[in-house]
Amino acid sequence: MTGEPLVRAEAVTKNFGHVRALRGVDLEVYRGEVVCLIGPSGSGKSTFLRCVNHLEKVDSGRLTVDGELVGYRRARGKLYELRENEICRRRANIGMVFQNFNLFPHLTVLENLIEAPIQVRREPKAEAVERARSLLERVGLSDKERSHPAQLSGGQQQRVAIARALAMRPALMLFDEPTSALDPELVGEVLEVMRGLASDGMTMMVVTHEMGFARESADRVVFMADGVVVESGPPDELLRAPKHERTRAFLSKVL
Ligand code: ADP
Ligand code: MG
Repeated sequence: MTGEPLVRAEAVTKNFGHVRALRGVDLEVYRGEVVCLIGPSGSGKSTFLRCVNHLEKVDSGRLTVDGELVGYRRARGKLYELRENEICRRRANIGMVFQNFNLFPHLTVLENLIEAPIQVRREPKAEAVERARSLLERVGLSDKERSHPAQLSGGQQQRVAIARALAMRPALMLFDEPTSALDPELVGEVLEVMRGLASDGMTMMVVTHEMGFARESADRVVFMADGVVVESGPPDELLRAPKHERTRAFLSKVL
């Protein structure tokens, strides 16, 4: 891969009180790459994604998205902390999908999809609706635009959540265990949507325990433990022949 990485972390740390959630994460994600983050519970995967999306503030190190330092802007050679509205504007370029869907329960599916494009991007409603409908078609839910989230299965809700994130035309999509809360028979339909996105060239960071997805769709798998990246590599190398004992031990439990 060439050019500036879309995401670059250098020695990123994050503490919660005395808990050292990130102890110096080094990681680069290039445009068009699909990177799966794997690792034991508590290793800092969610915290790292949340830092990338401005939901947590880094304590030390350097984290940039699209060349810009997360949380700061540079003006006349100095760094200034971003205000909330500026953070919102930057975050609008990043889509995030959580384990528990996080749809707006009082809005219909279509309303969920057009809310942010209209409120944050100031898109005309007709345009937002048109785009929302094409995204619903893409995730196979054209017939559900008037439903409320509670009327949908978990798999359908998660597909709506993905469509809602895409409605903002993000440059980067973050997925934090998107299938972990689903009944097993609903996992496939969500992974299928994610596979489609990956093959369309979307830049994706995916925290997942779905090793099949990692093997087939990831360009790179990153193994994290205790707040650091232990190793990373193409899926067939990392999953088949991990270099570190820690990675081997983890994989022996999940594969
Ligand atoms: P993972 O997603 O890999 O399971 P997390 O990033 O959620 O790991 O957590 C890393 C560590 O940080 C864990 O020890 C967790 O308990 C702690 N942690 C995460 N978020 C918070 C928080 N908001 N407050 C306190 N501790 C937290
Ligand atoms: Mg997590």
